[in-house]
Amino acid sequence: MMYLDPHIHMVSRTTNDYEAMKKAGIVAVIEPAFWLGQPRTTVGSFQDYFSTLVGWERFRAKQFGIKHYCTIGLNSKEANNVALAEEVMELLPLYAGKEGVVAIGEIGYDDQTEAEDRFFRAQLELAKEMNLPVMIHTPHRDKRKGTLRSMAVCEEHGMDPTMVVVDHNNEETVKDVLDRGYWAGFTIYPHSKMDSTRMAVVVEQYGPERIIVDSSADWGVSDPLAVPKTAQIMRDRGISEEHIRMTCYRNALDIYGKSGQIKESDWLSRAPINQTELHDGNSVLRGQTPLVEDAASLKSNGN
Ligand SMILES: [Zn+2]
Repeated sequence: MMYLDPHIHMVSRTTNDYEAMKKAGIVAVIEPAFWLGQPRTTVGSFQDYFSTLVGWERFRAKQFGIKHYCTIGLNSKEANNVALAEEVMELLPLYAGKEGVVAIGEIGYDDQTEAEDRFFRAQLELAKEMNLPVMIHTPHRDKRKGTLRSMAVCEEHGMDPTMVVVDHNNEETVKDVLDRGYWAGFTIYPHSKMDSTRMAVVVEQYGPERIIVDSSADWGVSDPLAVPKTAQIMRDRGISEEHIRMTCYRNALDIYGKSGQIKESDWLSRAPINQTELHDGNSVLRGQTPLVEDAASLKSNGN
């Protein structure tokens, strides 16, 4: 079984995670632009971060056999620094058009302030202009209200719900999100939000259509293997392989594939790993023998 983790912050993770993810069957990841824990104070910090997402991190993932994609956006927390947010908005179109960028995101509300609302709306307009999907981060506080408000604002801006993933759902929001035609993302956290068993129950209750499982793993307590582990729990409960495939792989590929930047053949016929390659003069090597796959054996292994 191949898995896709469509929401994971790999800049906060280690190469050990990449190795474990590959072993567990994760073939591709999508890394949404987000905040870093430490608020940024200048636009240059955003620029370097976006460059990392489309540059070094993409390269690093490839060195471990995983295809890396990202979303570009101004997160809701930092939207509250209005002067800086205005500068970041000017950067976004430059990065959103780069190779491997599959959506505008993650955007939406944190504290549901006026500034968050302003920059959320501006980025919905940008997504429409660029014909890109949108990834919405729903707030942890006042989740239901924030989720309903996010969808209402999308509709005010004439967004097509089939181009929008509303993420971080739970049992209280999923019905509204699906009924209104959006894709419903679920973040599986070890101690909060959804856990794997609750996720399986949601799939049993609502079916697999437009439901997407992700880890949102970052610098906090989180699990980069949440997608394959949840798939296993679904399997143990008797959920069909087809439904597991849809929620843990195919649905994310379908929605983010609308960007034209991610397709299955990217990993079905990926280039052999060559860890002797450099990115701006830097490698992932720390003295180990570089892994160099040869194309013929890669084909016969089928991965
Ligand atoms: Zn996130």
